[in-house]
Amino acid sequence: MLLVLGNATVDEAMGVETWPSPGQTIIAGAPKRDLGGKGANQAIVAARAGADVRFVAAIGNDADGRWVADALASEGLNVDELMIAATATDRSLIFIDPNGENAIVSTVNASLSIKPDTVEALVGDLAAGDQILMQGNLSLDATRAGFAAARRAGIHTLFNPSPLHAGHGELLGMVDVLVVNEGEARSLSQEFSAVASAKALRDAGVREVIVTLGGRGAVFCDASGLHHVSADTVEVVDTTGAGDTFMGVLAAGLFTHRMTGIAALRAASLAAAITVQRAGTLASFPARNEIAAILK
Ligand code: ADP
Repeated sequence: MLLVLGNATVDEAMGVETWPSPGQTIIAGAPKRDLGGKGANQAIVAARAGADVRFVAAIGNDADGRWVADALASEGLNVDELMIAATATDRSLIFIDPNGENAIVSTVNASLSIKPDTVEALVGDLAAGDQILMQGNLSLDATRAGFAAARRAGIHTLFNPSPLHAGHGELLGMVDVLVVNEGEARSLSQEFSAVASAKALRDAGVREVIVTLGGRGAVFCDASGLHHVSADTVEVVDTTGAGDTFMGVLAAGLFTHRMTGIAALRAASLAAAITVQRAGTLASFPARNEIAAILK
């Protein structure tokens, strides 16, 4: 069982010709509404990759929350465990310019309402050998409580600290599998190169460190040393969601399909290369049969 504990949001994407300046109003194209949140995205991909996923997030008691729950259910995820926060459902406004560059504004009130004792109770339902996957959207206290409880119970811990929080560094000693992009690796380790960061993050207590390098693939550092896996050379349409695809397939590869680190990393890279060739986030994730073909 893979417990994905994170956020679920309503994403509203708008195409803009230029970025708004302070005091300015600009006109956008028709908004496109989609399910989002790194927690929801990674849970959906891991489930498509065959993991037995239990997804928990907080939504508001509002129309957006009901829409999020319906969207998750239509992905085949169990929505019985969604928590109802006393705030509005979290939302992201995504502005995309003609070059595909994006700027995002998100609310996190519902996600921050998840308290450490709630997280401990959720982890308490897991068994030794199960896994917990968290991202950076919950409070630092809740995230810490989840990993600490998991460690005490022999549950594997996976962490994708995005968005990165100043306090995430102090959790590294409780993390089995850490996935960070280059910028996050640099901020967390204070090292400039991906290789030096990966080594430093392992020295900080992580068992398996993966630093993703966009079109240059990813580096992997575990007890056996450093390895590099290259990315497929593909025509890039939109890289949004690549990291979430990578994380979801990696988690399922390592723990559901019991692949070696390198094999799981290769599968994650191939799946993420599919995502970058398609527009959107949810719409760009590889389908079940596409992931199955990769995992064969
Ligand atoms: P994030 O989206 O979290 O910043 P990256 O940009 O490093 O993460 O991308 C995550 C993974 O997605 C990469 O390790 C790679 O496997 C895949 N990927 C990203 N960009 C490309 C690309 N241009 N071509 C092929 N694969 C890519």
